[in-house]
Amino acid sequence: MSEPFDLVIIGGGIVGLSTARVFHRRRPDWTVGVLEKEEEVGLHQTGHSSGVVHSGVYYRPGSLKARLCLEGRAALIDFAERERIPVRTVGKLIVAGDDSELPRLEEFAHRASANGIDSVRRIGPRELKDRLPGVAGVGALDVPTAGIIDYPAVARRLRELLQKEGVVVETGLTVRSAAAGADGWRLEGNGKERRARFVVNCAGLQADLVAAAMGVRSPVAIVPFRGDFFHLSPRLKESIPCLVYPVPDPDLPFLGVHLTPTVDGGLLAGPNAALALSREGYRPGQWDLEQLARMALFPGTLGLARRYGRFAAREWMRSWSRGSYLEAIRTIWPDVRPDDLGVRSSGVRAQAVRADGSLEDDFVIVRGERALHVVNAPSPAATASFAIAERIADAAGVPRPLGEESSKGPTFI
Ligand SMILES: Cc1cc2nc3c(=O)[nH]c(=O)nc-3n(C[C@H](O)[C@H](O)[C@H](O)COP(=O)(O)OP(=O)(O)OC[C@H]3O[C@@H](n4cnc5c(N)ncnc54)[C@H](O)[C@@H]3O)c2cc1C
Repeated sequence: MSEPFDLVIIGGGIVGLSTARVFHRRRPDWTVGVLEKEEEVGLHQTGHSSGVVHSGVYYRPGSLKARLCLEGRAALIDFAERERIPVRTVGKLIVAGDDSELPRLEEFAHRASANGIDSVRRIGPRELKDRLPGVAGVGALDVPTAGIIDYPAVARRLRELLQKEGVVVETGLTVRSAAAGADGWRLEGNGKERRARFVVNCAGLQADLVAAAMGVRSPVAIVPFRGDFFHLSPRLKESIPCLVYPVPDPDLPFLGVHLTPTVDGGLLAGPNAALALSREGYRPGQWDLEQLARMALFPGTLGLARRYGRFAAREWMRSWSRGSYLEAIRTIWPDVRPDDLGVRSSGVRAQAVRADGSLEDDFVIVRGERALHVVNAPSPAATASFAIAERIADAAGVPRPLGEESSKGPTFI
């Protein structure tokens, strides 16, 4: 039987791949393997995101999201520039639709400053009109450091570099069961067995199930929230040179339907956030029996319905009715016409929900036996992925190379 890997990472999304890279850098003497169930890396959340490099203005000061978004953003841009991956700092305007939203804009300005982002400033209706004549609003927060990137290209490039340096990236292997032994883990799937002294679970939409298979009762369950996008007609592209967001609801970890110029020159509207009945269901109405059964048994489902029922109904409508979706876009950009909504695409977010039905707002990493489980890494985890990876390696007790500062603060819940 072959020797066990020193480390196996389950999941070849951007978090798993960057984690492999960090461990390999810190311990080049270790054998590292990434097991990915699809035939290519980055095909789930990493390949279905808005492609935004977040700046860190939204997140509660002191939270992991706040710190890792900022650290990760810098490392990601540096990587993309070095590897010639399309990335552009186009800036963002968070637009208040009416006066009732201005206090929340103010709150984000405070958060930005508490998070160490100095370049953010408030702009009034006149400047907003000058910069984006078609956009409706009474004021905005100007966030020059936000950007756009090709995340699937980052994942593919990470895979290439890892493989070049001797890290094994094995695709087409779904880890279905795991057994702990004296020398670590035996992971099985697709008729194959791989052994590992230490495992990091970065399985995204399946992370709580993988944790359960490894004997960990995760404090949260993953509930899928589908986000639908529309590619907008080419006539509109020139009008929106930067990201344009509404003011998000402070009680939700979702940012609202926004406008995103893409690195390939297109313009996207979306995503909404519709509760989904299948973890990898990319079409509205898609469901699977297993997920339905899990939702029925999960104590948080009732609380979720109670707390977010109205929100869920609105977001479902936006998935089913183009008219509702158009209305959401028109709250910030009234000029959009029904025939401007072009091709539709979707992504599914892995959003952790607590047993009382509340949505977990921060990244969550849980410790298991000879393992770490990333059980909540929704947006901005693609932006933060390189920093999340450093944090995971710190948590595993693998020291940083000399001269690099170790990250501080809470890692686990
Ligand atoms: C609609 C949408 C918009 C978003 N927009 C942004 C954005 O603009 N900016 C941003 O920073 N973030 C954004 N995000 C969030 C971001 O995409 C995710 O936080 C990030 O991609 C998470 O990466 P991951 O590696 O944890 O998960 P994933 O990319 O989902 O990777 C997990 C991998 O694990 C594999 N896997 C699962 N189970 C197994 C198993 N049993 N065995 C082997 N492999 C397994 C899967 O196939 C998958 O490849 C968005 C997400 C969505 C859905």
